[in-house]
Amino acid sequence: CGIVGYIGKRDVAPLLLEGLQRLEYRGYDSAGLVITGPKAAGLKMVKAKGRVRDLEARVPKRFAGTTGIAHTRWATHGAPSDENAHPHLDPENKVAVVHNGIIDNAAELRAKLGADGVVFASETDTEVLTHLIARSEADTLEEKVRQTLKLIEGTYGIAVMHADFADRIVVARNGSPVVLGIGEKEMFVASDVAALVTHTRQVVTLDDGEMATLKADDFRTYTTEGSRTTATPTTVEWEA
Ligand code: GLU
Repeated sequence: CGIVGYIGKRDVAPLLLEGLQRLEYRGYDSAGLVITGPKAAGLKMVKAKGRVRDLEARVPKRFAGTTGIAHTRWATHGAPSDENAHPHLDPENKVAVVHNGIIDNAAELRAKLGADGVVFASETDTEVLTHLIARSEADTLEEKVRQTLKLIEGTYGIAVMHADFADRIVVARNGSPVVLGIGEKEMFVASDVAALVTHTRQVVTLDDGEMATLKADDFRTYTTEGSRTTATPTTVEWEA
Protein backbone atom coordinates (compact mmCIF):
# COMPACT_ATOMS: atom_id res chain seq x y z
CA CYS A 1 0.00 0.00 0.00
CA GLY A 2 2.48 2.71 1.12
CA ILE A 3 6.27 2.97 0.91
CA VAL A 4 8.68 5.45 2.51
CA GLY A 5 12.48 5.36 2.48
CA TYR A 6 15.38 7.60 3.49
CA ILE A 7 19.16 7.63 3.18
CA GLY A 8 21.22 10.46 4.63
CA LYS A 9 22.61 11.63 7.95
CA ARG A 10 19.49 12.16 10.04
CA ASP A 11 18.00 9.85 12.66
CA VAL A 12 15.89 7.73 10.34
CA ALA A 13 13.20 6.07 12.49
CA PRO A 14 11.26 9.29 13.31
CA LEU A 15 11.45 10.33 9.63
CA LEU A 16 10.02 7.00 8.49
CA LEU A 17 7.22 7.07 11.07
CA GLU A 18 6.29 10.61 10.04
CA GLY A 19 6.26 9.56 6.38
CA LEU A 20 4.03 6.57 7.15
CA GLN A 21 1.62 8.84 9.02
CA ARG A 22 1.29 10.97 5.89
CA LEU A 23 0.22 7.86 3.97
CA GLU A 24 -2.32 6.71 6.56
CA TYR A 25 -5.19 8.33 4.66
CA ARG A 26 -4.86 5.58 2.03
CA GLY A 27 -5.87 2.86 4.49
CA TYR A 28 -3.79 -0.11 5.64
CA ASP A 29 -3.85 -2.99 8.12
CA SER A 30 -0.26 -3.15 9.40
CA ALA A 31 3.04 -1.32 9.24
CA GLY A 32 6.76 -1.90 9.60
CA LEU A 33 10.22 -0.50 9.08
CA VAL A 34 13.84 -1.59 8.85
CA ILE A 35 16.90 0.57 9.43
CA THR A 36 20.68 0.49 9.36
CA GLY A 37 23.50 3.00 9.60
CA PRO A 38 27.19 3.46 10.17
CA LYS A 39 26.84 2.56 13.86
CA ALA A 40 24.08 -0.03 13.43
CA ALA A 41 25.30 -3.60 13.11
CA GLY A 42 23.18 -5.12 10.36
CA LEU A 43 19.49 -4.54 9.75
CA LYS A 44 17.09 -3.73 12.59
CA MET A 45 13.38 -4.30 11.99
CA VAL A 46 10.12 -3.56 13.79
CA LYS A 47 6.62 -4.53 12.55
CA ALA A 48 3.10 -4.39 13.93
CA LYS A 49 -0.40 -5.29 12.90
CA GLY A 50 -2.59 -2.22 13.35
CA ARG A 51 -1.83 1.48 13.23
CA VAL A 52 1.39 3.41 12.70
CA ARG A 53 1.16 4.41 16.37
CA ASP A 54 1.19 0.70 17.30
CA LEU A 55 4.40 0.37 15.29
CA GLU A 56 5.83 3.50 16.94
CA ALA A 57 5.12 2.01 20.38
CA ARG A 58 7.34 -0.96 19.48
CA VAL A 59 10.33 1.07 18.27
CA PRO A 60 13.04 0.76 20.94
CA LYS A 61 14.27 3.95 22.66
CA ARG A 62 17.73 3.51 21.21
CA PHE A 63 17.13 2.75 17.58
CA ALA A 64 19.88 4.65 15.80
CA GLY A 65 20.18 4.51 12.04
CA THR A 66 20.53 6.78 9.04
CA THR A 67 19.10 4.57 6.27
CA GLY A 68 15.73 2.86 6.26
CA ILE A 69 12.63 1.71 4.43
CA ALA A 70 9.08 1.47 5.77
CA HIS A 71 5.67 0.23 4.66
CA THR A 72 1.97 0.32 5.35
CA ARG A 73 0.35 -2.87 4.13
CA TRP A 74 -3.03 -3.54 2.57
CA ALA A 75 -3.09 -7.34 2.60
CA THR A 76 -3.65 -9.24 -0.65
CA HIS A 77 -1.83 -12.52 0.17
CA GLY A 78 -1.99 -13.60 3.81
CA ALA A 79 -4.07 -12.13 6.63
CA PRO A 80 -3.13 -8.91 8.42
CA SER A 81 -0.60 -9.94 11.11
CA ASP A 82 2.79 -9.00 12.57
CA GLU A 83 4.50 -11.70 10.46
CA ASN A 84 2.84 -10.69 7.21
CA ALA A 85 3.60 -6.99 7.69
CA HIS A 86 6.47 -5.68 5.58
CA PRO A 87 9.50 -5.44 5.47
CA HIS A 88 10.34 -9.07 4.73
CA LEU A 89 13.83 -10.29 5.64
CA ASP A 90 15.72 -13.39 4.55
CA PRO A 91 16.79 -15.88 7.27
CA GLU A 92 20.29 -14.31 7.47
CA ASN A 93 18.84 -10.82 7.96
CA LYS A 94 20.75 -9.48 4.98
CA VAL A 95 17.99 -8.47 2.58
CA ALA A 96 14.92 -6.37 3.39
CA VAL A 97 12.08 -5.72 0.95
CA VAL A 98 8.94 -3.59 1.08
CA HIS A 99 6.45 -4.07 -1.73
CA ASN A 100 3.26 -2.55 -3.06
CA GLY A 101 1.32 -4.61 -5.56
CA ILE A 102 0.76 -8.27 -6.33
CA ILE A 103 3.17 -10.98 -7.50
CA ASP A 104 0.97 -13.15 -9.75
CA ASN A 105 3.32 -16.15 -9.88
CA ALA A 106 4.09 -16.13 -6.14
CA ALA A 107 2.54 -19.57 -5.49
CA GLU A 108 4.72 -21.18 -8.15
CA LEU A 109 7.87 -19.39 -6.91
CA ARG A 110 7.10 -20.31 -3.28
CA ALA A 111 6.77 -23.96 -4.30
CA LYS A 112 10.10 -23.86 -6.16
CA LEU A 113 11.92 -22.11 -3.30
CA GLY A 114 10.29 -24.46 -0.78
CA ALA A 115 11.55 -27.47 -2.75
CA ASP A 116 15.04 -25.92 -2.45
CA GLY A 117 14.71 -25.84 1.34
CA VAL A 118 13.66 -22.23 1.83
CA VAL A 119 11.50 -21.76 4.94
CA PHE A 120 9.04 -18.89 4.67
CA ALA A 121 8.38 -16.55 7.59
CA SER A 122 5.13 -15.15 6.18
CA GLU A 123 2.23 -16.00 3.90
CA THR A 124 2.84 -13.04 1.60
CA ASP A 125 3.56 -13.00 -2.10
CA THR A 126 6.22 -10.38 -1.32
CA GLU A 127 8.50 -12.73 0.60
CA VAL A 128 9.54 -14.56 -2.59
CA LEU A 129 11.34 -11.35 -3.61
CA THR A 130 13.40 -11.38 -0.42
CA HIS A 131 14.58 -14.96 -0.89
CA LEU A 132 15.26 -14.56 -4.60
CA ILE A 133 17.39 -11.45 -3.99
CA ALA A 134 19.21 -13.13 -1.07
CA ARG A 135 19.97 -16.21 -3.17
CA SER A 136 21.14 -14.34 -6.26
CA GLU A 137 24.84 -14.80 -6.92
CA ALA A 138 25.19 -11.48 -8.76
CA ASP A 139 27.92 -9.14 -7.50
CA THR A 140 25.88 -5.99 -7.05
CA LEU A 141 22.58 -5.31 -5.32
CA GLU A 142 21.24 -3.75 -8.52
CA GLU A 143 21.98 -6.94 -10.46
CA LYS A 144 20.51 -9.17 -7.73
CA VAL A 145 17.27 -7.17 -7.92
CA ARG A 146 17.29 -7.12 -11.71
CA GLN A 147 17.70 -10.92 -11.89
CA THR A 148 14.86 -11.34 -9.42
CA LEU A 149 12.50 -9.06 -11.31
CA LYS A 150 13.05 -11.17 -14.43
CA LEU A 151 11.55 -14.14 -12.57
CA ILE A 152 8.41 -12.46 -11.34
CA GLU A 153 5.10 -11.60 -12.97
CA GLY A 154 2.82 -8.99 -11.51
CA THR A 155 2.81 -5.44 -10.25
CA TYR A 156 5.27 -3.83 -7.92
CA GLY A 157 6.71 -0.77 -6.37
CA ILE A 158 9.60 -2.05 -4.26
CA ALA A 159 12.37 -0.71 -2.06
CA VAL A 160 15.28 -2.99 -1.14
CA MET A 161 18.09 -2.77 1.41
CA HIS A 162 21.00 -5.18 1.82
CA ALA A 163 23.30 -5.35 4.86
CA ASP A 164 26.32 -5.89 2.58
CA PHE A 165 25.42 -2.85 0.45
CA ALA A 166 24.44 -0.50 3.26
CA ASP A 167 25.33 2.67 1.32
CA ARG A 168 22.26 2.41 -0.91
CA ILE A 169 18.56 1.71 -1.38
CA VAL A 170 17.48 0.12 -4.65
CA VAL A 171 13.93 0.71 -5.89
CA ALA A 172 11.89 -0.48 -8.87
CA ARG A 173 8.51 0.19 -10.39
CA ASN A 174 6.06 -1.77 -12.48
CA GLY A 175 2.46 -0.67 -12.15
CA SER A 176 2.73 0.77 -8.65
CA PRO A 177 4.05 4.32 -8.11
CA VAL A 178 7.59 5.12 -6.91
CA VAL A 179 8.71 8.73 -6.46
CA LEU A 180 12.23 9.83 -5.54
CA GLY A 181 12.75 12.93 -3.40
CA ILE A 182 16.06 14.66 -4.03
CA GLY A 183 17.55 16.45 -1.03
CA GLU A 184 20.86 18.01 0.00
CA LYS A 185 23.11 15.05 0.84
CA GLU A 186 19.99 13.01 1.57
CA MET A 187 17.49 11.14 -0.59
CA PHE A 188 13.91 10.07 -0.05
CA VAL A 189 11.64 7.59 -1.76
CA ALA A 190 7.90 7.12 -1.42
CA SER A 191 4.89 5.71 -3.17
CA ASP A 192 3.17 9.08 -2.88
CA VAL A 193 4.59 12.65 -2.90
CA ALA A 194 2.53 13.37 0.23
CA ALA A 195 5.22 11.55 2.22
CA LEU A 196 8.04 13.68 0.74
CA VAL A 197 6.90 17.26 0.43
CA THR A 198 7.76 18.38 3.95
CA HIS A 199 11.40 17.51 3.17
CA THR A 200 11.93 18.32 -0.50
CA ARG A 201 9.98 19.57 -3.51
CA GLN A 202 12.49 18.14 -5.99
CA VAL A 203 11.07 14.86 -7.24
CA VAL A 204 11.66 12.23 -9.91
CA THR A 205 8.75 9.93 -10.78
CA LEU A 206 9.86 6.52 -12.01
CA ASP A 207 8.25 4.98 -15.09
CA ASP A 208 7.14 1.36 -15.32
CA GLY A 209 10.18 -0.80 -16.02
CA GLU A 210 12.48 1.69 -14.33
CA MET A 211 14.77 1.21 -11.32
CA ALA A 212 16.85 3.59 -9.22
CA THR A 213 19.76 3.50 -6.83
CA LEU A 214 19.68 6.04 -4.01
CA LYS A 215 22.80 6.98 -2.09
CA ALA A 216 22.99 9.84 0.42
CA ASP A 217 24.63 12.22 -2.05
CA ASP A 218 23.66 10.76 -5.39
CA PHE A 219 20.97 8.91 -7.34
CA ARG A 220 20.75 7.23 -10.70
CA THR A 221 17.92 5.72 -12.69
CA TYR A 222 18.02 2.92 -15.25
CA THR A 223 15.74 0.38 -16.89
CA THR A 224 15.25 -3.14 -15.55
CA GLU A 225 17.46 -4.13 -18.51
CA GLY A 226 20.25 -2.00 -17.04
CA SER A 227 20.51 0.94 -19.45
CA ARG A 228 20.72 4.40 -17.90
CA THR A 229 17.71 6.69 -18.13
CA THR A 230 17.74 10.46 -17.78
CA ALA A 231 15.94 11.72 -14.71
CA THR A 232 15.63 15.48 -14.30
CA PRO A 233 14.01 16.43 -11.00
CA THR A 234 10.87 18.53 -11.27
CA THR A 235 9.49 20.82 -8.58
CA VAL A 236 6.16 19.76 -7.11
CA GLU A 237 3.62 22.42 -6.20
CA TRP A 238 2.01 21.60 -2.89
CA GLU A 239 -0.32 23.51 -0.62
CA ALA A 240 0.80 22.70 2.91
N1 GLU B 1 0.74 -8.16 -1.93
C1 GLU B 1 1.48 -7.69 -0.80
C2 GLU B 1 0.95 -8.29 0.48
O1 GLU B 1 -0.14 -8.78 0.53
C3 GLU B 1 1.55 -6.16 -0.73
C4 GLU B 1 0.22 -5.52 -0.45
C5 GLU B 1 0.29 -3.99 -0.45
O2 GLU B 1 0.37 -3.40 -1.56
O3 GLU B 1 0.28 -3.39 0.64
O4 GLU B 1 1.64 -8.31 1.46
